[in-house]
Amino acid sequence: MKIKPFRNEKLTDFSKKANLDKQKQALNKVRKNLGKTYEIILGGKKIKTNSKIDSFNPSNKLEIVGSFYKGTKDLVDKAVEIAIRRFNEWKYVPPVERADYLFKAAAIARKRKFEINAWMVLEAGKNFAEADADTAEAIDFLEFYGREMIRYSQKQPITPVIGEINELVYIPLGVGVVVPPWNFPFAILVGMSSAAIVSGNTVVLKPSSDTPMMGKIFCEIMQEAGLPDGVLNFLPGSGSEVGDKLVSHSGVRFISFTGSMEVGIRINELAAKVQPGQIWLKRVIAEMGGKDSIIVDRETNISDAAKGVAASAFGFQGQKCSACSRAIVDQSVYKKFLEVLKMEVGKFKVGPAEQNYPMGPVVNQNAEKNILHYINIGRKEGKILIGGYKIGGNGYYIAPTVISDVKPGARISQEEIFGPVLSVIKSRNFNESIKIANNTKFGLTGAVYTSNRNKLEKAQKELFIGNLYFNRKCTGAMVGGHPFGGFNMSGTDSKAGGRDYLLLFMQGKLISEKILNK
Ligand code: NAP
Repeated sequence: MKIKPFRNEKLTDFSKKANLDKQKQALNKVRKNLGKTYEIILGGKKIKTNSKIDSFNPSNKLEIVGSFYKGTKDLVDKAVEIAIRRFNEWKYVPPVERADYLFKAAAIARKRKFEINAWMVLEAGKNFAEADADTAEAIDFLEFYGREMIRYSQKQPITPVIGEINELVYIPLGVGVVVPPWNFPFAILVGMSSAAIVSGNTVVLKPSSDTPMMGKIFCEIMQEAGLPDGVLNFLPGSGSEVGDKLVSHSGVRFISFTGSMEVGIRINELAAKVQPGQIWLKRVIAEMGGKDSIIVDRETNISDAAKGVAASAFGFQGQKCSACSRAIVDQSVYKKFLEVLKMEVGKFKVGPAEQNYPMGPVVNQNAEKNILHYINIGRKEGKILIGGYKIGGNGYYIAPTVISDVKPGARISQEEIFGPVLSVIKSRNFNESIKIANNTKFGLTGAVYTSNRNKLEKAQKELFIGNLYFNRKCTGAMVGGHPFGGFNMSGTDSKAGGRDYLLLFMQGKLISEKILNK
């Protein structure tokens, strides 16, 4: 069968009433299924334990989206055992066949798009467009990695050696532990799991405790696509208990993690320790936090720059690793920029995700507390330009907050806040802006607004950032077009959604045969 070239999934246009109505209908339908209980799934078998994790609606904090039986340390052993057994068969399934499971899964997710969006609106607090972009990205990962596996399974270019027939093939690694975050609860979970699976590995998926429903939906989809039992195992559980044990397990060959720097460092340390009986060094793919900057130069359209900064800082309440959390603005346009920015940010109304407000709640009580704490630090480190307070209601609502006159080394300019808080830093000139942008331990995304080509070239050379954008916002990476991953404490620069990504889940095997003279 001829496979069409990869194209990004179309985003739903919610300015059309028909689409808005479909999304609302899906929400009504999903609402009827809130509060149900879901089992752990190991080797296709459903398992109950003595305790549960409840996933809540952050727009309405007492509402339970779903209850999930909680994994235990014993179940970690069982999950890894099952995954090892299944690996011995799955690794020999031809790559084209493995890819086909992903293509089938993409088709199922496409059909269920409004329903998946609805669960995400309720479980993660995304508005309709943000949820839809997340689901579309998940579909993109399935379509893209399926095609990538087929590419890697074809004849690989190597230099001919006279008298030999040589071949380089890519084989899978083994059992992988997949640990996703809650902020792209479907896209990242699907991307990391499907990349591991299509490369011929088996997976133990430990979803985020804030968004386990999205993992459950992915397992349902893969089951419907016909994936053999035990290739994808679903084990909700606490990061510190189940997560630690999984990462340390001697049977695990690799860990694919996306989340905070602190947890990433811990996983890297735990995984580095060789356990009794372990005959490999574990591979760790860790994509972590960001402290992303947008440079606003004096030679730019201030209105465009302010719109780009506001969209990058406050989309999904600033809870994106790629979110702009620092605007570094040339002193000669600083005052004007603040005026326009304040106007733009004032347009972001905050309310329940289900009512499709431009901004919804932050994910949970801890996040709310942490963000408000940073806002209080910010009061001392700068001036509140707009926002700076909690908004009433049943959810974790925080006003979009801009703090101006922040010094480059201030805490709110250095530490990841992961919420709707933007620092604005004044800079003397473009050279200084570059220095400030490079002054954190992270290096994930960033943008530069300038019409000066020489300055863009300087930025291209000197900014130490994994995903660098010019004259546009710094969020919204597209699978295929913007391979994603950052430098330094932002992670291992795995470039998810790019041509190098699947290599992280495989190892190369060279076969060389001497041609015998007959
Ligand atoms: P997190 O707190 O680090 O959690 C991420 C995942 O790790 C969750 O599934 C969590 O499980 C699990 N976990 C926690 N402790 C663990 C342990 N000791 N061993 C194994 N697993 C453990 O991050 P988050 O709050 O979900 O996500 C937000 C962070 O992700 C931000 O820092 C953001 O910048 C980053 N992020 C980075 C990228 C990127 O591509 N660079 C993309 C998206 C997000 P529990 O939920 O059970 O604790």
